[in-house]
Amino acid sequence: MGRALLHFDNTYARELEGFFAPWQAATAPAPRLLLLNYALAEELGLDSAALDSDLGAAIFSGNQVPEGSHPLAQAYAGHQFGHFSPQLGDGRALLLGELIDRHGLRRDIQLKGSGRTPFSRGGDGKAVLGPVLREYVIGEAMHALGIPTTRALAAVTTGETIHRGMGLPGAILTRIAASHIRVGTFQFFAARNESNRVKQLADYTIARHYPALKGTSNPYLGLFAAVSAAQAALIARWMLVGFIHGVMNTDNISIAGETIDYGPCAFMDSYDPQTVFSSIDAQGRYAYAHQPLIAQWNLTRFAETLIDLVHPDADEAARLLTEQINDFSTLYTRHWLDGMRAKIGLTTAEDDDLTLAQGLLSAMEGQDADYTQVFRGLSAAVRGDPAQVRAHFANPAPFDSWLAQWQARLARESTTAETRAEAMDQVNPLYIPRNHKVEEALAAATQDQDLTLFKALLAVLEQPFAERPGLESYTQPAPEDFGPFKTFC
Ligand code: AMP
Ligand code: MG
Ligand code: MG
Repeated sequence: MGRALLHFDNTYARELEGFFAPWQAATAPAPRLLLLNYALAEELGLDSAALDSDLGAAIFSGNQVPEGSHPLAQAYAGHQFGHFSPQLGDGRALLLGELIDRHGLRRDIQLKGSGRTPFSRGGDGKAVLGPVLREYVIGEAMHALGIPTTRALAAVTTGETIHRGMGLPGAILTRIAASHIRVGTFQFFAARNESNRVKQLADYTIARHYPALKGTSNPYLGLFAAVSAAQAALIARWMLVGFIHGVMNTDNISIAGETIDYGPCAFMDSYDPQTVFSSIDAQGRYAYAHQPLIAQWNLTRFAETLIDLVHPDADEAARLLTEQINDFSTLYTRHWLDGMRAKIGLTTAEDDDLTLAQGLLSAMEGQDADYTQVFRGLSAAVRGDPAQVRAHFANPAPFDSWLAQWQARLARESTTAETRAEAMDQVNPLYIPRNHKVEEALAAATQDQDLTLFKALLAVLEQPFAERPGLESYTQPAPEDFGPFKTFC
């Protein structure tokens, strides 16, 4: 081959020997490139035209190892639904390496679904088309919403039939991430009492993600604070759009603060704090309203791995870390309230704004009011037409009383109604990945090999805020006959 297609600079492989297993993908019998994310390829400085080919299919299926790549499976552990598993790791993923994007940012490129690895335990190492497309579209939707997330660069089918109760098309997702370092990566080495390795990982993480901490008086406490701050900001963003991750195990918590590992995730339709979609979350541990507390619980697990590094006296280390853990709720609430102020059109801050924002949620509770539509509808109310949003409430009395309080509050703002309404439409999405639309698109792709609906959905979600004609069906909650929604990833 002539000029290298991808320019790798693999610090994880180079600097963290012992943190992974060098590995190869299983051979895909008949790889076919289904999707290539041109905009992202461009951002990564890749030649999309050259990759939109059999060569791309060969690379994104793992059949061809691109020049400069040293594929590896990363080791990690994790608390799954509260129970610690000392060894998880990439059971069906391979890190191809790191690319430096056009902004100078280092990004991981990883294949997911590329076959068994030393960390596969009982699994087959494979992925099937439905969940691959689900991760693709929801991740891209999150990105378009401005929420930190891993991205989808490509999706291929492998030509293999994978058995998941029934035969399904095998597929591989190529995922781009700030990194794949997880809370569980720290836990893997901490659980083995390998303090030197935890330190090595912490130093690597600081250099890669939080370089300003280098040389500060307590960089490891600083690392904890930075990760905690990133999680507070991230979870607030999820809550503001009604996103439910569904499997917030510590191995699915990115140290870089991105949303990672889209499995049973989904967006809420009617506002209900107890919403759970995942079929495996019978107890509702990862319900919508629990996400901030779960994030704090996960951060506490992270803190435990850093005790030895933070202070030679374990009690003092615990005290310092606990202080930071306790700050999480304040940080989270600040981010959430900032976001809520924007959603309801406030540009100034008053003490009662938190109560006001919570008042709208209380008015929505038990009303079968669509979360996304209610917030989007508020701009029409600002423009003088509250009837539309009022219609979402089965019993409008609580909304009417909230409306009066909100209007009194808005009267103390100096922006004009039109400016305010426009700003609100920039933060309250019109188009989110509606469960029935996602399912319909995945079914057509899986059963009929037809990506038309999927590509249409992707195009709608790439611009979640800009209203376009002909897309009304994408703004609606699931019809009655769709029934209660469950995810099975
Ligand atoms: P998840 O719940 O998807 O975050 O995955 C938890 C763990 O199971 C990770 O270590 C995955 O790599 C592993 N895993 C998930 N699916 C498979 C599979 N089909 N084969 C092997 N390992 C898997
Ligand atoms: Mg995972
Ligand atoms: Mg997963």
